[in-house]
Amino acid sequence: MIYHGLIHRYKQYLDLPAHSQTVTLLEGNTPLVPMPRLGRELGCELFVKFEGLNPTGSFKDRGMTAAISESLGRGAKTVICASTGNTAASAAAYAARAGLRSIVLIPEGKVAVGKLAGAIAYGAEVIQIQGSFDDALALVVEITQKTPIALVNSINPYRIEGQKTSAFEICDALDAAPDWLCLPVGNAGNITSYWAGFKQYGKGLPRILGVQAKGAAPLVLGHPIEKPETVATAIRIGKPARGEQALEAAHESNGGIIAVSDAQILEAQKTLATEGVWVEPASAAGFAGLVAETTQHKIEAKGKRVVVVCTGHGMKDPSIITESFTTPRVIPAEYEALVDAVG
Ligand SMILES: *Cc1c(COP(=O)(O)O)cnc(C)c1O
Repeated sequence: MIYHGLIHRYKQYLDLPAHSQTVTLLEGNTPLVPMPRLGRELGCELFVKFEGLNPTGSFKDRGMTAAISESLGRGAKTVICASTGNTAASAAAYAARAGLRSIVLIPEGKVAVGKLAGAIAYGAEVIQIQGSFDDALALVVEITQKTPIALVNSINPYRIEGQKTSAFEICDALDAAPDWLCLPVGNAGNITSYWAGFKQYGKGLPRILGVQAKGAAPLVLGHPIEKPETVATAIRIGKPARGEQALEAAHESNGGIIAVSDAQILEAQKTLATEGVWVEPASAAGFAGLVAETTQHKIEAKGKRVVVVCTGHGMKDPSIITESFTTPRVIPAEYEALVDAVG
């Protein structure tokens, strides 16, 4: 079957206005990768929904195909977003595809190199803000209220519509919802989307574990964080726009929202790579949360079907790895030297 992108595939489930003009890069349709070894260690049937394999390397493409399709159909000429990086790259790619101008606001010096490079490669006008993601978001909200520029952050309801499709795909692949779904939570658009998607699709409901980073855990602490800090830049957010909905999803699904340390996140990133899946730090938070909860017996994963959502590709943030490894050794280009080196 030829794939035409997720709007085409799940049109009947998506509440998009009639004026939408589909802009697609054939996003979605990402693999649900079985993780038999790590699953065995945790005693569950484990899968990774590998969202890093979307066209621009993160799940943001699911929402962006919908948001840009609506903006284009409405006659917008320019789109804008605040971003910790992945939204910027995604907005830039879809805007380019649609022939729209894109402007992205990022927190100064805090965006991973692979994301910034993507935004620039796709032709976005990138502006750094002397402030946090939350400051950038407040600014783009204001300018889109006062000018015809279209907002494509996940406050935009069509982002949520598009992102629901990952829940549909998981249900289609497993023929039912899993017992648990674990995912990172930043601005909380994605957890909102999954919960809405599972509820709508009617193939059962998972319990949802949302995972924040300890230094950026407003939903766990119960108040906004002025200066969020974490190595997981994609979830370095102190005031989630959809925080209430995230708490609701966790509560209604009989799941929860927890925080894990940067050390746990980086450990989870390494562990996932031991079974062949390299994800960016924020993307490993869901798995870190699962490990923490099962170790403390707060989640009984034994015999359960668990899907961990890995939101973005490891190649987005290569410096996390390259800064911590020692440079590979150098040997002469001679066979004997190779034999010595291999041991
Ligand atoms: C955006 C993003 C998140 C957080 O998603 P929210 O919808 O903001 O909660 C997590 N991981 C990655 C890789 C992201 O790009």
